[in-house]
Amino acid sequence: MRPITVAVLAGAAMMIAGPAGAQGVDFSKVEIKATDLGNKTWMLEGQGGNITVAVGTDGIIMVDSQFAPLHDKIKAAIEKISPLPVKYLIDTHYHLDHVGGNAAFHRDGATIVAHDNIRLRLAAGTTNAANGNKTPPSEADAIPTDTYVVGGTEVKVGGRVAQVRHVINAHTDGDSWVTFPDANVISLGDTYSSRTYPNIDWGSGGSIDGMILALDRYLKAANDTTKIVPGHGPLATKVNLQEWRDMMATVRDRVKKLFDEGKSEQEVLAANPIADLDGKWAGPAGAITSNATFLRNVYNGFRNRN
Ligand SMILES: [Zn+2]
Ligand SMILES: [Zn+2]
Repeated sequence: MRPITVAVLAGAAMMIAGPAGAQGVDFSKVEIKATDLGNKTWMLEGQGGNITVAVGTDGIIMVDSQFAPLHDKIKAAIEKISPLPVKYLIDTHYHLDHVGGNAAFHRDGATIVAHDNIRLRLAAGTTNAANGNKTPPSEADAIPTDTYVVGGTEVKVGGRVAQVRHVINAHTDGDSWVTFPDANVISLGDTYSSRTYPNIDWGSGGSIDGMILALDRYLKAANDTTKIVPGHGPLATKVNLQEWRDMMATVRDRVKKLFDEGKSEQEVLAANPIADLDGKWAGPAGAITSNATFLRNVYNGFRNRN
């Protein structure tokens, strides 16, 4: 694992463009859809990363919060589920389609829980490694105050536990995944996109090797009835996750072979070693889930490590 340094922070990517991004979205038209996962646990979908909500006897644990302008709609959707307050908001990683609601939910009373690298990135501001776009430092209310550095942490409300664990250098260098054992629900943030190729934020320490290591951990933790909340895409099962993991391993092996042969990024794009997978997994040209962006991200993730 590369240690986080000021230099790494300065080169950090903020990649929120594409279908998960805020560009061109009319937030007034977004509707929040709630899916009951059983045992007082719900998945919320709107625009941006999927949200998980777990209701205890005295409060609510929430995983991710989508974009800032959706706060009121998300809050209203949660109030339909339970009148109890959101006591904890867990951030799976620092991208604004997942942490945009931090400040407003914190002002509503939630404590924000995350890996410590999220605190560092939000406090310092970030620069997109691919295009140089800068995101300014976040306001104080948006910055996680309950952070961990190694391993993971636990979050509790009455009768409910969320197990928060870190996976190293996967989608970013600050990813957490969250387990609600009593509901057999796991929430994976952007280390899993159930319908498309993922974004890999290599400028912030992400790599496909780390993604695959993470996926193998999730597969060990899941069983045939586990409900899997991906960062993007519909609710998934262990069978879906296994299929996606196998796709990722295929991509890794093919791109790594070309990388090890000394091929340039342009040569890898021209060779297009994943063309046969595009029909099932590629997003439209220009999207962050497109063939070209995904190949670039995988390639640069290898370059990072040399
Ligand atoms: Zn996302
Ligand atoms: Zn992300």
